[in-house]
Amino acid sequence: SRRAFIVGNWKMNGLGPAGAEIDAISAGAPDGPELLICAPATLIHRLSRRGVAIGGQDCHPKSSGAHTGDISAEMLADAGATAVIVGHSERRADHGETDETVAAKAQAARRAGLTAIICVGETEVERDSGAALDVVARQLDGSVPADASAANTVIAYEPVWAIGTGRTPNAAQIGEVHGVIRDWLKARFGAESDTIRILYGGSMKPANAAEILAIADVDGGLIGGASLKASDFLGIAAQA
Ligand code: 13P
Repeated sequence: SRRAFIVGNWKMNGLGPAGAEIDAISAGAPDGPELLICAPATLIHRLSRRGVAIGGQDCHPKSSGAHTGDISAEMLADAGATAVIVGHSERRADHGETDETVAAKAQAARRAGLTAIICVGETEVERDSGAALDVVARQLDGSVPADASAANTVIAYEPVWAIGTGRTPNAAQIGEVHGVIRDWLKARFGAESDTIRILYGGSMKPANAAEILAIADVDGGLIGGASLKASDFLGIAAQA
């Protein structure tokens, strides 16, 4: 069975004092789940090696070169990151990232020895039109690189309409999508797919974590707002 994976995504939040949150998370970490905080790039080096694994939130497909302002997967690893989120809906929306871009970034993560947390999820319009499962399958087809390994791959299902809204799909809806993702992984990776974690993300908080984490094929969470305070993040982790 898969070890629960509780991941915080701090997004564009965090200055120097955030070190205190990492130290509090480290001190309060429960025994069971694996924890990771995906911090802004500016904080990765400062927060790494303090008892909590640190990840990035994006990377460039290439390892180096003339790409002003970009950060490579190798640079994240060099700074102390062990994982990177790719294809978050905010990157897809704000920076026009396509599935092809996301796949190239996931490939870069593997090249640099980082776990790739590949995000998928439908918009509200897509959900309402009954297209959620098709959208997620299409995103998986395009965003998981052909040479991905089971060992460095994590999938995060984040319905766009649940991010930062306080709304979540119901348990049946989450279970349905995670089941489709699990089947997709089995078709792609065969028996090795059993080791791949599928995270749910979108308005997860201590009050709904137990119910969400109990759903079949939900192997952890990708938590935005509720990861910014150690007490909230630990409150979720304690239920994994
Ligand atoms: P919230 O937990 O703030 O809804 O954000 C979810 C998310 O986008 C994590 O990547």
